[in-house]
Amino acid sequence: MGLIIHNNLINEEKARALMGSCPFGAMEYKDGKLSIGMQCKMCKACVRKSDGAITFEEEQASLIDKSLWNGVLVFCEHYEGHIHNVTFELLGKAKELAKVNDEPVLALMIGHNITSKAQELYNYGADSVYVYDDPGLKDFLIEPYANVFEDFIKAVKPSAILVGATNVGRSLAPRVAARLHTGLTADCTSLEMTESKDLVQIRPAFGGNIMARIMTPNHRPQFCTVRYKIFSKPPRIESDKKPIAMTVTPQMLASHARIEEIEVKSPDVDISEADVIVQAGRGVKTQKDLELVEALAARLGARMACTRPLVENGWFSAKQQIGLSGRTVKPKLLICVGVSGAVQTVAGMKGSDCIIAINSDPEAPIFDVAHYGLVGDLYKIIPSFLKELDNVQ
Ligand SMILES: Cc1cc2nc3c(=O)[nH]c(=O)nc-3n(C[C@H](O)[C@H](O)[C@H](O)COP(=O)(O)OP(=O)(O)OC[C@H]3O[C@@H](n4cnc5c(N)ncnc54)[C@H](O)[C@@H]3O)c2cc1C
Repeated sequence: MGLIIHNNLINEEKARALMGSCPFGAMEYKDGKLSIGMQCKMCKACVRKSDGAITFEEEQASLIDKSLWNGVLVFCEHYEGHIHNVTFELLGKAKELAKVNDEPVLALMIGHNITSKAQELYNYGADSVYVYDDPGLKDFLIEPYANVFEDFIKAVKPSAILVGATNVGRSLAPRVAARLHTGLTADCTSLEMTESKDLVQIRPAFGGNIMARIMTPNHRPQFCTVRYKIFSKPPRIESDKKPIAMTVTPQMLASHARIEEIEVKSPDVDISEADVIVQAGRGVKTQKDLELVEALAARLGARMACTRPLVENGWFSAKQQIGLSGRTVKPKLLICVGVSGAVQTVAGMKGSDCIIAINSDPEAPIFDVAHYGLVGDLYKIIPSFLKELDNVQ
């Protein structure tokens, strides 16, 4: 792909005119030849003014036979056989996407002693469940998992692949996509399927100001990671189908890394799974004042979360940030305290069942998304809220 200069159509006069048309001064005329240098920004102004003396040639789109690729695959994330909820959410979405072109929903599970656990994927809508079960795959290690994933894709040829945008998914999916020379859209928040089996991968871009619609029309498979808590878990329908065992070879298990120790993270800080969350924003003036908000969270059995400025000033860990560059949450109850409701914050909370906002500014955008709004000073509202809660058994 690039600009092609047809020097046989260019004389000195024409070359000078074209050089004058380049806004970046990227052209040079030397020894009877026009050339384009590093300053070129591909604006193609020269192409338009050259009467065919400069042309722009697109890369030949790779001719992929889409009919060889079939099915919407969900990668099953699990820890020692306990399947991560994002997998079930993705199976529900995969069913919807697959229905458009009457494709099957496929599921892939990699690990050890997982075959009986993998059966559960049928109960949430998978038509075929494939299992790579081997002691060498007991714990997540990037190289063996990528080898196995690649083997699966080459053998089964799924058309679209959905992976949870978790720590595991975010490291595995790009590596496998790169091996297959296909594209990957990270952190999708919505997905659509066209009738020509092209997956429309939708995600916020430019700080959440636009929703980008990304497609992979010339390559297969189509790969994306999808945020947790974006889609709903489908209903469980018992199935008696058995998972399909895939062969693991010693070559697949080769790895340059080994696991020395596994430290299980404290569930206290994981806000993604919480049913009740209290989110503190910059309306909370000092770190000491957080005690007031924490007292409310403790009284409600809620997890503490925050907006980005409170991570930036070191009051919270990044794992507690709700929003575009933080976590997506979908609790039953979310109380936003002194949070303005910037688009980037709201992007991570829209699926919450009930949002209560406490803010002194009646015009604060958070009131546009809150189900209940309390206009007033948080330093007065929270103490009286706590007092009321004391009267509730
Ligand atoms: C690319 C990008 C990504 C971003 N990602 C995120 C993200 O993931 N998450 C995120 O949160 N932000 C994110 N931001 C930042 C975001 O744009 C906002 O700047 C931020 O969310 C504002 O935080 P806030 O609501 O706590 O503070 P402010 O906007 O300062 O709002 C404070 C609110 O508190 C109210 N208030 C003040 N005093 C009181 C009081 N005594 N009682 C009651 N209310 C009071 C005010 O009326 C105000 O509405 C991102 C920004 C960019 C550019």
